[in-house]
Amino acid sequence: MDAKALFRRMIAEGFRFKTDGVTLFVGPASRLTDGHKELIRSHKAELIELINRYLLAHLEDAAMRLCDAYDYPPEYRARMLKTLRKFPKYHWHALIHFMEELASMANQELDDRITCTECVNYQQKSGRCLAAWRGELIGVDRVYHPSPTRLHRCEGFIAKEVARGS
Ligand code: SF4
Repeated sequence: MDAKALFRRMIAEGFRFKTDGVTLFVGPASRLTDGHKELIRSHKAELIELINRYLLAHLEDAAMRLCDAYDYPPEYRARMLKTLRKFPKYHWHALIHFMEELASMANQELDDRITCTECVNYQQKSGRCLAAWRGELIGVDRVYHPSPTRLHRCEGFIAKEVARGS
């Protein structure tokens, strides 16, 4: 059995692999039989290389998606790829960090809540809501002082940019 077949078989058995480029971690350790250990030992170098290659592909993909999101210039992207390839030890941490950042960006994009500070109806000086004053917010007192930075959805919301016509 070659390293790839071993890797696939053990993943199907519920094992997980991790490497810092030098050491190979396989878990859960309590389920490893002597047979597993022997096979892992004899394919250690290939397993590390296989995981690193796989990891690097995902890492580079995540890095480029972040560069797209931030609109980074080509020189910066090239430097980033070069650095990533140079330090396999940090691949896991970098991948986790990039994926968290991408997930947080996706959450922000999908979040349609707003704050009153973004709304043309919010009166900075008095802290009052003009839509409520005009009786446009159902069940809300006319003299309404909303919490300006609380994220929420509101039927009276008009974005300042929309009001300005941009
Ligand atoms: S209309 Fe809604 S979002 Fe706008 S200030 Fe009033 S409460 Fe806030």
